[in-house]
Amino acid sequence: MSFEVKEKDLLARIGKLKTKTGTIETPLLFPVINPSIQPIPPKRLREEFGFEAIITNAYILKKRYGDKVADEGLHKFLGFDGAVMTDSGAYQILVYGGVEVSQAEIVNYQERIGSDIATILDIPTGWSVTKENATGTVEETLRRAKDFFKVKTRDDILWVGPVQGGRHLDLVEESAVEMGKLPFQIHALGSPTEVMESYRYDVLADMIMTAKMNLPVDRPLHLFGAGHPAMFALAVALGCDLFDSAAYALYARENRYMTENGTWRLNELDYFPCQCPKCASETPKQVVGKTAKERETFLAEHNLHVCLGELRRIKQAIRDGRLWEHLEMRAHAHPALLTAVKKLRKYEDFIEKHSPITKRSGLFFLDSHGLTRPEVVHYRNRLSERYSPPEKAKILLLASQAVPQGKRIPRNQPSPQTLKREKQKRRARLLLCCTLRSNAHRA
Ligand SMILES: [Zn+2]
Repeated sequence: MSFEVKEKDLLARIGKLKTKTGTIETPLLFPVINPSIQPIPPKRLREEFGFEAIITNAYILKKRYGDKVADEGLHKFLGFDGAVMTDSGAYQILVYGGVEVSQAEIVNYQERIGSDIATILDIPTGWSVTKENATGTVEETLRRAKDFFKVKTRDDILWVGPVQGGRHLDLVEESAVEMGKLPFQIHALGSPTEVMESYRYDVLADMIMTAKMNLPVDRPLHLFGAGHPAMFALAVALGCDLFDSAAYALYARENRYMTENGTWRLNELDYFPCQCPKCASETPKQVVGKTAKERETFLAEHNLHVCLGELRRIKQAIRDGRLWEHLEMRAHAHPALLTAVKKLRKYEDFIEKHSPITKRSGLFFLDSHGLTRPEVVHYRNRLSERYSPPEKAKILLLASQAVPQGKRIPRNQPSPQTLKREKQKRRARLLLCCTLRSNAHRA
């Protein structure tokens, strides 16, 4: 198996994905490279920023550069010695309604240029489509996915089987179930860009969870076109392992400054809320005074630093078992993100089943949203399965007795057995209290 999970929290995982060029660590962001207009050369992305992988578009490469890329090899052509993923032109189908290439041609091209991770020519569903059209995209993508295995010749490339269906969750389910039966190494969820642009993170959470619950859980999941750091925590927590970002460059071109809590226009800023090497060396006023090209490069570099910084924080949170706390913090930056977190109650049993229950440190309950976290769901389910209240009891009232922060242990310490018993009692009270609060919350 090319994907090995090292750490888990919620549905997130830190994993190692083996490609023919090298092993990359997930969750991972692929910066999108457009060889014709690229603000930061791929070589610098590797050496200065430490990106292990990039993504580019095989359809554009084929159209503009043809056999030159195959002759030189993709890595040499781009000047990047890390892993390179290629998309197939599906995005162009979404934007322009079609491409001048067949699936067999683009699969063959990706094999010839030497992609490490490559994509079949799927049909993106998009956002504003009728159910009938959405069904058409799912069926055609599945037909091409089955067809693909008759066309491919190389086994050292990791192939991506995209899931379509858009906001039609029954179609996403069907697409995920059928795609999951085929021997792809990676899956991807298509069409989230427009959902994210309209801030429908609740719909996005439904789409991701529907795909996740119906795909083989041991295969990595790529979220196409998800490149804003404000939503990484949500997507990673729901089990997305790979992302690609064209947004860092597109935002830069429009003078938009990314932060992990949202986006600012450059001219709105008096101070940079960032400590990356770019922002530490200049003020917003100085950057506004630069030429358009210099400004674009400055912002593209800052945007990538922010994305990388947020992914590092997320990975550390996974290791510490604190991803839920991190997610709640990010969700409180925007009502649309908070709506998505509230929606997770619908999926709490699935999340609980796949998330570690024991933690290295205590949990922080910030508000009632914490009642959805897997540790609470786990013990709440155990209580309702295994605890029988006294026969005549009509109302059961329990109070939590958490130890206040910083409380000192008395000098004449009780025996370890007494301490253990007390701890168990406290935990039982706290959990039962959570159960009652949660049930009251639901009622
Ligand atoms: Zn910065």
